[in-house]
Amino acid sequence: MRLDAGLMGRLAADEALWRDFNDICDCGGRLSGTQSEKRAFALLRERVRAASPANSGRSIPVPYNGWQAKSATLKLPGGTFAPCHPLVRTIATPSSGLTAEVIDLGRGTPDEFEAHKAEIAERIVLVRHELMFAAGTIHRRRKYDMARAHGAVGFLIGGPLAGHVVAGSSGRDSGEGIPALGISPETAAKLARRSTGFPSVTITVETAEGPAETETLVYDYPGQTDEWVVLSAHVDGHDLAESAMDNGTGLAAVLAVARALSPEVAKWRRGLRVMFFSVEEWALTGSAQYVKALGEAERAKIALNVNLDSVAGSPNLAALTSGFAGVEPFLLGVAEANGQSLRTVRPLMTNSDHANFATGGIPAIRLVAGFDDPNAHLRVVLTPADTRDKVAQSELRQATLLTAALVAAACNADPDEAARWRA
Ligand SMILES: [Zn+2]
Repeated sequence: MRLDAGLMGRLAADEALWRDFNDICDCGGRLSGTQSEKRAFALLRERVRAASPANSGRSIPVPYNGWQAKSATLKLPGGTFAPCHPLVRTIATPSSGLTAEVIDLGRGTPDEFEAHKAEIAERIVLVRHELMFAAGTIHRRRKYDMARAHGAVGFLIGGPLAGHVVAGSSGRDSGEGIPALGISPETAAKLARRSTGFPSVTITVETAEGPAETETLVYDYPGQTDEWVVLSAHVDGHDLAESAMDNGTGLAAVLAVARALSPEVAKWRRGLRVMFFSVEEWALTGSAQYVKALGEAERAKIALNVNLDSVAGSPNLAALTSGFAGVEPFLLGVAEANGQSLRTVRPLMTNSDHANFATGGIPAIRLVAGFDDPNAHLRVVLTPADTRDKVAQSELRQATLLTAALVAAACNADPDEAARWRA
């Protein structure tokens, strides 16, 4: 269970970890469909090739409904314009814009929607962005769906960080929807209900949509059996900043773990499959297509998916275990044997690519930093403040070491142990 001392030493001294992280951030926010995303894929290819020249990997095409925002404006009562950011795949407005009253539903819980249900139709719903990595979080996409179900004509979400708008996906795939914008907390405060009634705003959103294609990048390092441990991270992000925590941290850690472990895997029971997904921010599309295409027998050969998403920005790491209680003693045992603290969180959270493995019957965990910590830097994920200065090198290295230990132990676990993960 304890990571081999040689491997540990190599990882602890691997200067490429921090270089890779910075180079990934230099690619920009990596919104799917942009040159920034393409630059990141090219960089990942180059870094894997440098570490294992014999493995050219394979690319799985991922068709999806492409979307691009051309412009977005929000005109407040009184005629001034407030900064806003179109949520991914928001529908466009008519060119004359959408003018309607705003109803502030606070956090946007099901109770708040229910209590105001008679007032929502034909209005624009305003809710608040929540810390994503916390028990009981209500995901933005659920709030958007509730707004639509109650007949709202638009959707605004107030961000968590003073002076900054917030990004995220609207939850719409293609077809019908309502215009959806991220705004700053200050703008949200200006849209509170008054004694005179609900404030009225005008939204304009211009978009371009059409068929698009990205890829999933896969590198297989076979072990002695035909079973696999899948180590994954998503490449894509948002165009507000450099998507450093989410998910530059996960990508850099996967590269470092692959670099350290790949020369060893041939001796191990299970192989290591390294996967880089995209369109994760677009309803987990890349991993959904991958898992859906796997036959029953192929799924049975994957012993565990370890998905890294936002693994630094706080020194506290959690493993979201997706309901697979049987994997928790294994994870905790490996963490303890390597002198790391880890907590496990069991409910299935559909907030990253591991969820598609889990719902496909494959034991799957997401490693995430700062879970349930409202003060962690992770609270500014999806804002322009998700920048590299929020990440301490020590945090990224700690996450990388824990990941290497987990993956190595999972590759070597005996069949009885691996069977318990699936139970
Ligand atoms: Zn993410």
